[in-house]
Amino acid sequence: MSKTETETREFHAEVRQLLEIVIHSLYTDREIFIRELISNASDALEKLRLTQLTEKDVFDAELPLEINISTDETAGTITISDYGIGMTRAELTENLGTIAHSGTKAFLEKMQEGAKPDVIGQFGVGFYSAYMVAERVEVFTHSWRGGGEHLRWESDGASGYTIDEVEGQRRGARIVVHLKDEHEEFAKTSRVKGIIERYSNFVGFPVNLNGERVNTVEALWLKSKSEVSEEQYKEFYQFTAHAMDEPRYTMHFSADAPLAINALLFVPGENAEQFGLGPQPPGVALYCRKVLIDPHPEGLLPEWLRFLRGVIDSEDLPLNISRESMQDSALVRKLNEVLTRRFLKFLEKQADNDPKSYEEFYSRFRRFLKEGLVASPVHQELLAGLLRFTSSMTEGEETTSLTGYLDRMKDGQEEIYFLVGPDREAIEKGPFFEGFKARGLEVAFFTEAVDEYVLESLREYKGKKLVAANRAGIDLEDVPGEGDDEALTETETEKLVSWLNSALDDRVTRVDSGVRLVKHPMVALLPEDAPNAQMRAMMAAMGQEVPETRAKLEINPRHPLMHKLAALQDSQRDLANKVARQLTDHALLAAGLEVNAGDVSEGMAELLSELLEERAGS
Ligand code: ADP
Ligand code: MG
Repeated sequence: MSKTETETREFHAEVRQLLEIVIHSLYTDREIFIRELISNASDALEKLRLTQLTEKDVFDAELPLEINISTDETAGTITISDYGIGMTRAELTENLGTIAHSGTKAFLEKMQEGAKPDVIGQFGVGFYSAYMVAERVEVFTHSWRGGGEHLRWESDGASGYTIDEVEGQRRGARIVVHLKDEHEEFAKTSRVKGIIERYSNFVGFPVNLNGERVNTVEALWLKSKSEVSEEQYKEFYQFTAHAMDEPRYTMHFSADAPLAINALLFVPGENAEQFGLGPQPPGVALYCRKVLIDPHPEGLLPEWLRFLRGVIDSEDLPLNISRESMQDSALVRKLNEVLTRRFLKFLEKQADNDPKSYEEFYSRFRRFLKEGLVASPVHQELLAGLLRFTSSMTEGEETTSLTGYLDRMKDGQEEIYFLVGPDREAIEKGPFFEGFKARGLEVAFFTEAVDEYVLESLREYKGKKLVAANRAGIDLEDVPGEGDDEALTETETEKLVSWLNSALDDRVTRVDSGVRLVKHPMVALLPEDAPNAQMRAMMAAMGQEVPETRAKLEINPRHPLMHKLAALQDSQRDLANKVARQLTDHALLAAGLEVNAGDVSEGMAELLSELLEERAGS
């Protein structure tokens, strides 16, 4: 393309959609566009610094790594320049004309839910926030590669943009924001200074405003706790996380052994993934002696800690470690383990010291802990200790922990019992709970779809096995109870059981008489090694073959229905058969097993008409 020709291009549809919203619907927090442009400048400088480690031939190599901002009240502009990596023609189109990731969609959805625009940077579309205040934006740039073009990109944010060649652009990018009349305030030095101090104080490169240094570049994480105020922590959190809320937890520590670590970690106020944002990239940056190694290091922390924000600085890392070699470095693995442990211990302490705040944390972030329980066997015990749930020994909303459960265990009790169901009431009314209740055994209640899976992978806690209370193979001692006088005798029971075994042979593995039931006549128990209801649903959803699971039945010989069934068994075998099958279907349903609904209602209709006929006849 010749120097005089101007290239005109359309924005990608997603960008147009985004700009539409930015220009017409975002009315608050407009000032954050300055933070976003500074953050991009800082990223570009960071990338240049990394490039310089390996590339010798860098354009304008002598330029300092700094950000310069200038304001011009007469022209109504604010200009943000950096000497970073800059962009080539193709990169301008790629980076400022299209959106490579799903940022827009998630951002638009969040806006529709009424979120504030300040989160725009978290969605990887921060550049466009300039259009909250600009009538047009120019980007002058030259890539770090020598021999490239000096370019000018320009757009009014409507439908497209132009790119043409200019002369004398230095390495990096210079963004000129032409302010709309009503937003002239952003061309005022004092106003802009306040904004930089507020949002960009911790940028790792000098930020100069009209020739004067504004930011302090403090590596807070290297200071000792007593030297840092709450306000500074908060500012730093908001800076690193592109956030406006307060950190929920702040964990600041240093260690010398086994590794030299300075860490400043934050749990955000809210869980961004709850807003429908996809999995977030790692949010804890890795530094070595104040030098940024990687802003989003994979593998530094387990994936399930992706909600954390902050900084980890380790002197033990070689400065020139590449991102590729980092992931499989033994050192990083060690860091991962030590940091994860420290953080979980920290949570444990928070839970002890302030259970109420911990509940608030838990209600937002428990998904991650549960994910960790399944994904990281080495941290299982600590994670299990952080679980909270209601149980048959807690009142209403009050929750307890596995440690609490262990403390309350009865003498001689060897197992931790739990049940998973839609809610507490449903679990308490179901057939599985009553036997434990009657014996004063605590049952932990879990109500999330993932819980079955999580508890199953946990298996035990502090040497005590976790056992689902709806499984066969739990030995409960007999306790005398109501209805004992009406109970079938041993011989009657044996006879009934032996008949049921032959009558229900096609439905269940076997039928036994048992002591666990109180109010229900019959219960279906899953074999210990069978996949549970949730697991089967998951397998089916993934198109896997679901193994046929047959349950075992346990009947309650104290129940009046069993009494009647035993009598019918001789006098009216056919009717007894129908009743037994109905009871079985209901027991199987309660156990979450597949039952043919058509057969059940057909059987029920037959049974009812038979009974009614009999009544009419008698
Ligand atoms: P993000 O910074 O999250 O990637 P942005 O919308 O802020 O999203 O920026 C989009 C892209 O534009 C950046 O990823 C980068 O490639 C490019 N870019 C923006 N500003 C600059 C700059 N000052 N120098 C070089 N590239 C830039
Ligand atoms: Mg950005």
